[in-house]
Amino acid sequence: MRSLLASLFFVAGGLGCSTATQRVPVTPEPINPGVDLLEIGGLYNVTLIRGERPILVDTGPEGSFDDVAAALRAAGIAPNDLAIVVLTHAHSDHAGNALAFQQLGVPVLVHERDAGMLRGGDHGDLFATNLEAVLVQPFIPSTFPALEPELVMAGEAPFDLRAYGVQGQVVHAGGHTPGSVIVHLENGVVVLGDLVRSGWLAGLVDAGSPATHLFHQHPVDEGTAAAEGFTRDIAACADIRVAYVGHGPPISGDALRAWASDAPAGRCPWAVRDL
Ligand SMILES: [Zn+2]
Ligand SMILES: [Zn+2]
Repeated sequence: MRSLLASLFFVAGGLGCSTATQRVPVTPEPINPGVDLLEIGGLYNVTLIRGERPILVDTGPEGSFDDVAAALRAAGIAPNDLAIVVLTHAHSDHAGNALAFQQLGVPVLVHERDAGMLRGGDHGDLFATNLEAVLVQPFIPSTFPALEPELVMAGEAPFDLRAYGVQGQVVHAGGHTPGSVIVHLENGVVVLGDLVRSGWLAGLVDAGSPATHLFHQHPVDEGTAAAEGFTRDIAACADIRVAYVGHGPPISGDALRAWASDAPAGRCPWAVRDL
């Protein structure tokens, strides 16, 4: 899988470079940030974006901070060197170490519609979408260390990452939780959080294949259909080359688009670039 990921990213980076060299640079070349999955035990993903200043996307569950910090150091980055922490949403397995990073001086970004869960340190009830979810649910705590986020996205306004030397933005998606967000980089890499997952059993089975997530914030008979519909709109976006997700290995853009082949075209939540 590592070699597959490296290949996908090599392709993404290589294509990006060939596009860039066709322009006459009047400012420094836009960077094509590298993206790494940090090794913190396999069940949960923490994603590092290597811009001019590093950005961490999600933080893992409470109790895993030492593992995340060790993985960052192994990547050559001290935990307090991070520019910001982006939370794709405020579930305990993504926000569990957010307070620990904040206490190191790293600002935390969350969407306003998930900020209440962060301030309360509790994500409340989740709704299982299948039998695997029902079996896993008793082992997922709803509580985590509460914090007051420094950076709160409002409404549909995107959060620009160029201030950190990263050509990309954070956009509101909703779906999995009301305030779920996506990191969208101009090189075709996205971080989708829990909008979709990769394979079964945290990627042990059918890794790299998109699948409906185990849980959503909505009752199955109310919001899940809408959440899944919107997720498929996103999966269909033409400029996704590689999607990092909250659980399981990365998914290729082609696999996402095949999964979402029934989604209507033209409903991508960002301006699709011709890469
Ligand atoms: Zn989640
Ligand atoms: Zn999760």
